[in-house]
Amino acid sequence: MKAYEVRQKIKLAGLRPPGTLTLAITGACNLVCCHCWVSAGEATSSDHVPLQTIRRLVKDFAAIGGSGIRITGGEPLCQPEWLEILQFSRSLEFKRVILQTNAILLSDDHITALRKIDFPGLSIQISLDGATAATHDLVRGPGAYSGAINGIMKLVQGGLARRISIFFTEMRHNLLEIPALLDFAYNIGINTVSTGSMVLCGRASETSILSPPGVEQYLNLLERYESDFHFRELYRKTGTVAALEWRAGNAIRQECCTFLENPYITPSGRIYPCLLCHTDEYSVSGVFEKGFIAALDEGIHLWSSLLQISRHRTKNIPECNECPGKLLCAGGCMGRAWGSCGNLLAPDDRCKTRRAIYKKKHLTLPENPATHKSYPKPSVCPDTTVTTG
Ligand code: SF4
Ligand code: SF4
Repeated sequence: MKAYEVRQKIKLAGLRPPGTLTLAITGACNLVCCHCWVSAGEATSSDHVPLQTIRRLVKDFAAIGGSGIRITGGEPLCQPEWLEILQFSRSLEFKRVILQTNAILLSDDHITALRKIDFPGLSIQISLDGATAATHDLVRGPGAYSGAINGIMKLVQGGLARRISIFFTEMRHNLLEIPALLDFAYNIGINTVSTGSMVLCGRASETSILSPPGVEQYLNLLERYESDFHFRELYRKTGTVAALEWRAGNAIRQECCTFLENPYITPSGRIYPCLLCHTDEYSVSGVFEKGFIAALDEGIHLWSSLLQISRHRTKNIPECNECPGKLLCAGGCMGRAWGSCGNLLAPDDRCKTRRAIYKKKHLTLPENPATHKSYPKPSVCPDTTVTTG
């Protein structure tokens, strides 16, 4: 089947056509982080997806109207042809080319090559899980913090600071370092710091060292935000933290999932309808052999059923029925619910925190939700950002 026919079928099934593809080009990593949700391992060449396979796939993705690509892993810099993959993606004129990395392996030659690829849609998303070596290295191992800072400073000195975005995984031991991290980033010219709480799957479900932040910690962060003008100002310029957005936002989110806008392909060639929803039952394997367009065609009926499940989550989750925030939250992220407890019809793992924040907002259920003001669906699912390792 041709790309435009499959695009049409996707729309007819009530799904959004693919916009940004997250493509894991290797399962290998130079680190073995305790919270890695894809359990990426030590660098071995057998975990790399071959360049020719990637070229074919990315070309098909462009043909179906894709406008952005996120290159991830494992650690993508372990794949020796990662720069060619970025160059090739750039040559297809995607609006966004995103590289997710821990920055440790960045060399001066890489910076020179990245400067040649540079364009306003280039984003280098670097994982930094603390404002100090102690917090970052607890998660990622000794030397990881100095390696990441070294890579960041190379990019900054190479004139690429404006292309860097920092991604921080919220955990119990590091949550209160967010203000210091914003300071660090802003002072060296980085304008984007986003965070997301630890997803309890992969190695994160096995670690005894780390855990997600507690509700009280989030409430303390909110208090700090309210009482600290400097933090508020920096946050306004650079930050996105879900808990602070829940406190401020009033946008209704009746439809939870945005399938198939942000599909995700693993290094073993399995496609999921979004980065966070890893239910094998709703995935298609063998993408590299079948081809991207044929794999999409095969998955349409699965993802259309999954979308129906997501639409009825709030109604089917007992906790949500009486929750004052249900119009804003809609049961949270279905993929996180699956990842943390293996149930598509459970509230997501951040439910307690959300409820505590909604209580602070003094939300009450509208008498007639049907007449409550509705907002357009977001163009990008607010839950899709996550780090691999
Ligand atoms: S809410 Fe979660 S599962 Fe649904 S599209 Fe967004 S990230 Fe994926
Ligand atoms: S906060 Fe919890 S109970 Fe309330 S709508 Fe969200 S998931 Fe449901």
